[in-house]
Amino acid sequence: MLLRHRHRLLLLNLHRPLASPPALASVSFRPLSLSAHLTPSTDSPSPSGSTVKGSSVPDVAAPGLLRSELFVPPGVERKDATAEMLLPGSNIVVGPYAGDAEVKKIEFVKSSARAGDCPKDGRPEFAILGRSNVGKSSLINKLARKREFALTSKKPGKTRLINHFLVNNSWYIVDLPGYGFANASQSSRTDWSRFTKGYFLNRETLVGVLLLIDASIPPQQVDFDCANWLGRNNIGLTFVFTKCDKIKGKQPNDKIKHFQDLFSEYYRKSPPPWIMTSSVTGLGRDELLCHMSQLRNYWDNDDESV
Ligand code: GDP
Repeated sequence: MLLRHRHRLLLLNLHRPLASPPALASVSFRPLSLSAHLTPSTDSPSPSGSTVKGSSVPDVAAPGLLRSELFVPPGVERKDATAEMLLPGSNIVVGPYAGDAEVKKIEFVKSSARAGDCPKDGRPEFAILGRSNVGKSSLINKLARKREFALTSKKPGKTRLINHFLVNNSWYIVDLPGYGFANASQSSRTDWSRFTKGYFLNRETLVGVLLLIDASIPPQQVDFDCANWLGRNNIGLTFVFTKCDKIKGKQPNDKIKHFQDLFSEYYRKSPPPWIMTSSVTGLGRDELLCHMSQLRNYWDNDDESV
């Protein structure tokens, strides 16, 4: 069986705890300081990444967003990234690995108590993680376009299990237990942490983690702790801001900028991908699936060459 290279794509985008940065991570970036207020492009993003324009522009990729703040996927040069190649409401550049992002079929496969019990078919997977009440089930339902689909994982007895959902018979969405239960006892928090860390450290087919952050409330320390732990263990993540429909006021994107400024502390070298979503309005759904498609396709492609 082929040797799987864990988390290899997002290793390109890790932060300072990385012991031996791979080639692309050695490029030095400014700390994140950005507004998510991207002017949606009239052109659709170029999946091929070939219609590159504006490469002579020094740093600005889009209004309020510097080129140095972008998540640039394999196959694209940072200097060539332009506003036309950005997924709206994110810092994510679309590259040549982006592919079919439609969810045609999704089915619940199994709940596992340990990483060792998870499916062993070698299909790539994305873990979805966040504080309880962050909107994880709602996001999974939105991705699945099925109301109450993710309720499976909220059934008593399944909330603390690893729940696998198979998409299009080819990849998995993995629902992990929520962290930071306000009322949980210390012992159950420790259990959560041992249990979930075991999954992250042993799951060879994990392409990346979607770390959900509730954009409608102030930043929470537990989210920073989680992001930092994942980073220290070289596990790539995408920040998925949830409940963005609730950000009101004159400049709603200031709120996302505030989160980014705080997270930038952890990501001095290379900005991780981030995206704004709402399970109420559907904001970011298709964009998130597109992002996942390019991570997945790169993972698949790279795997064949191993
Ligand atoms: P989970 O515990 O992380 O699975 O969170 P849920 O998906 O159950 O959502 C927790 C609460 O937040 C519920 O009352 C949802 O209706 C609400 N919620 C989830 N996503 C959104 C969103 O995008 N916008 C708004 N306004 N509310 C949301």
